[in-house]
Amino acid sequence: MSFDSLGLHAEILRAVLDSGYTEPTPVQARAIPVVLAGRDVMGGAQTGTGKTAAFTLPMLHKLQPYANTSASPARHPVRALILTPTRELCDQVFASVTTYGKYLPLRATAVFGGVDMKPQTESLRRGSEIVVATPGRLLDHVQAKSIDLSQVEILVLDEADRMLDMGFILDIRRILSLLPAHRQTLLFSATFAPEIKKLSEDFMRNPELIEVARRNATNESVTQYLHAAEPAVKRRVLAHLIRHHDMQQVIVFTRTKLMAERLSRELKRDGFNCEAIHGDRTQQSRLETLAAFKDGSLRVLVATDVAARGLDVTELPFVVNFELPTNAEDYVHRIGRTGRAGATGIAISLVGADEDKSLCQIRKLTGKALEVTAVPGEPAQRENRESRERPVREYRESREPRAEREPRTPREGGRRSDIHQVETPLVEGRRTNHSAALGGRVAGAITHFHRARDVARELPALLLPPRYTVSK
Ligand code: AMP
Repeated sequence: MSFDSLGLHAEILRAVLDSGYTEPTPVQARAIPVVLAGRDVMGGAQTGTGKTAAFTLPMLHKLQPYANTSASPARHPVRALILTPTRELCDQVFASVTTYGKYLPLRATAVFGGVDMKPQTESLRRGSEIVVATPGRLLDHVQAKSIDLSQVEILVLDEADRMLDMGFILDIRRILSLLPAHRQTLLFSATFAPEIKKLSEDFMRNPELIEVARRNATNESVTQYLHAAEPAVKRRVLAHLIRHHDMQQVIVFTRTKLMAERLSRELKRDGFNCEAIHGDRTQQSRLETLAAFKDGSLRVLVATDVAARGLDVTELPFVVNFELPTNAEDYVHRIGRTGRAGATGIAISLVGADEDKSLCQIRKLTGKALEVTAVPGEPAQRENRESRERPVREYRESREPRAEREPRTPREGGRRSDIHQVETPLVEGRRTNHSAALGGRVAGAITHFHRARDVARELPALLLPPRYTVSK
């Protein structure tokens, strides 16, 4: 199928052609005719499928009759409103609107928080047919009476599930109450949770359901690797992987702002060209960092989930989950930053033993086995393991010369009843159960017989002075 056959205005097709797209993606092929026919749409499209153009192109086509070059604000009322959950997505959708609408005299304004309101107010006062907004800042403008939404004909709720996750439901309902009842509503969401269904029942008219991929499915063009790595070695493993795969552009996701800051600082120290974005950075700095990453001048972007949605970097080849997200759906969105629009990508997750629960949830959601494998290019791992095991060996030997040692483990000939579970405090405040064989003869002697991986994981505790209760 070609774009020509969709019946879009020639000036829109010209802009699409300039973007280098030759044929519509599945969500575009299915949604564009339905939107052009005036129907409401519930779009279930996973990230990276081209859903922005799926609503923007027909929206521009429908607004095209209103395009005019008059200077009067009265000739440019708000006709289309696009709501997005994050500032980044807002900026990105705005960029798509201006790209696809560049040959039409339609005006567009982006309205999001964290930046000065004044330029937005001025732009809204001059008049703007299309407003792309985050809910909170839009309501600020409503309050300040700098925007009138009474002539909106098309409403788009982009990444609606995310907006609800972020607690925008009341804001959205308030905004919906300000719009004319007779309008076209397009709702796009990666998932159709019950709240989304409720929203659609309350505010949409017999919407056409368009789903182009299985819900919560991960993009098949993304190869997923999961490597076992404990928190203490993750940074070194990451640095090794960046070099091993020769990653020239990679997003690394962390769970917290604090970790994003720390990791970015440490990677900089390791010599990587790296910056962090998260909610505590000013909007200006977030936009600048994203721009540098997109134009290729920044190699490593460390981000919290604030950037997991919406961020679109052409042909981003790598995504790394430094920590698995607590919300399994975020895994799908994070790795959806790569392998976009038919390109292939690699998503690597570093999984610590304390992340088993998140991993189980991700496996359940994606329906994939997601096997945890060893880090490729062994040296870093072997080096880590050896440097971590050496002190353990030395510690053991210093406490109990090998020749005098009693057999402790079942494999060594010890009795199973000699094996007890003891709880050992770990450095990061976590507590964990160790299998320890307690020798009856040598009071106070403790031997741990972990597999090499477990030893590496629990080394910090082993280096602490023993604080165990000795079995009778
Ligand atoms: P989206 O899912 O809207 O974030 O889009 C994902 C990526 O696909 C963006 O980089 C778009 O520029 C790109 N894209 C959108 N439509 C097409 C198309 N028809 N052909 C190729 N790439 C596209």
